[in-house]
Amino acid sequence: MYKSDTICAIATGTTGSGIGIIRVSGDRSIEICDRIFAGKKRLAEMETFTAAYGHIVDSDVIDEVVVLVMKAPHSYTTEDTVEIDCHGGLFLMEKVLKLLIREGARIAEPGEFTKRAYLGGRIDMSEAEAVMDMISAESDRALSASVGQLSGRLREKITELREKILYDTAYIESALDDPENYSLDGFGEKMSDDVSEISGEIVKLMESFDEGRLVKEGIRTAIIGKPNAGKSSVLNMLLMEERAIVTDIEGTTRDTLEEYARLNGILLKLIDTAGIRETDDKVEKIGVERAEENIKDADLILFVVDGARPLDVNDRRIIGSLTGKKVITLINKEDLPVVIDRGELEELLSGVQVSELNDTYAGTGKSDAKYNDNGSDQPVYYNEKTDNKHRMITISAKEGQGRDELAALVKEMFISGEARGNDQIIISNERHKNALHDAGEAMKRVKDSIDDGLPEDFYTIDLMAAYESLGLITGETLADDLADKIFAEFCMGK
Ligand code: GDP
Repeated sequence: MYKSDTICAIATGTTGSGIGIIRVSGDRSIEICDRIFAGKKRLAEMETFTAAYGHIVDSDVIDEVVVLVMKAPHSYTTEDTVEIDCHGGLFLMEKVLKLLIREGARIAEPGEFTKRAYLGGRIDMSEAEAVMDMISAESDRALSASVGQLSGRLREKITELREKILYDTAYIESALDDPENYSLDGFGEKMSDDVSEISGEIVKLMESFDEGRLVKEGIRTAIIGKPNAGKSSVLNMLLMEERAIVTDIEGTTRDTLEEYARLNGILLKLIDTAGIRETDDKVEKIGVERAEENIKDADLILFVVDGARPLDVNDRRIIGSLTGKKVITLINKEDLPVVIDRGELEELLSGVQVSELNDTYAGTGKSDAKYNDNGSDQPVYYNEKTDNKHRMITISAKEGQGRDELAALVKEMFISGEARGNDQIIISNERHKNALHDAGEAMKRVKDSIDDGLPEDFYTIDLMAAYESLGLITGETLADDLADKIFAEFCMGK
């Protein structure tokens, strides 16, 4: 039933543009298009992957078009497909669609073209999802992660893991059925090696998820600093547009704004915040509370310090709330004479600890961050044993100085090395991560069974559970209704 009908949709955007493409796919697509197309040749007589010039006609000529014919199975959907290159007016394209419907096609559901490619076996579910990610990619990194996924890298890896699991399961089953020809002596050891290898691969894939999420959704970045330090100016520098209001009056950045910036191929989801300080002003207060909330949610804090003014209680209070965060300190206004005591700033920042121990001291306005919370006066320099290395650069937001240095630091902190980056598989999809998690748990149970010396047939249940979970990623074990749900999130015409 599914494959028997022919679908059509506008494949390009639905705003007027120079040209617009209508895509038709299904057994009858060539025949249906032939009924409304007038050209030198009939489409049915055309070779696959050739184009024809002509007109879409009803009683009158509707548009002058170029039509591309792609025959099954070598098309995006694996079905006969026709693409009509029209002039891009929406009214015009809708008219063409109406004719196609009159001749027997129906409007495609969102994602239905890709769904057909999936059902036709040309791509697996992870590749179909990569198509969607590519369309919505907002940065170079996000795009290259999805292109990698579309090229089948994730599918290959998952298939490899599933084959290993299946082989071991099959061996156990055979040995139980036919002990004369298959021996399980010492098999526990081999199994143990296989299990740790497979589990290791699963963990590696799962670990890429955080990076994948950051790449796809953007690094949530909070710009904080006392009033007039230059937060709005930093935001503008990153956006390279005048988005936020820059002003001399303290506390004018009243609301939190969310903007995206592309910093040398990395996507930052910027959250502009009101200055952190005590205030009686109600409107301002909402902003300050939100700013503190933003620090909590942020993946990265850009701490803007005014280099042309001495450090004060506001700076110290902010430093106290940086606990446990990835922070880049921007000493701003380098174009002005330097007043700030850099040594003092470094000293204060080096006292910021990365564990939650400091919470009771955060925000007291003193440099209490240096002391631990067991009441002793012993300084605690947690950053020595963790990654809470304090990164500090001097910038001039006003003159746009320091953008590249900042980009390099962000890359160093969030993106794995270039060498690893190119052929590393990055998981960016929550659904994939959950499936990997379940597979990993099942493999753990196999390991426990081996360690407990349980008989081999105990392994197979959990091995098959892992096999099934991994199959969700490629779609092999995915129930139809779940597949439908995934495709329903696609955009029209894809
Ligand atoms: P915010 O309150 O932290 O958002 O600070 P603003 O971005 O509104 O900046 C406060 C003032 O400092 C404005 O007058 C800016 O023009 C000025 N300012 C910001 N960055 C720089 C800089 O790099 N150099 C100089 N000379 N002035 C700056």
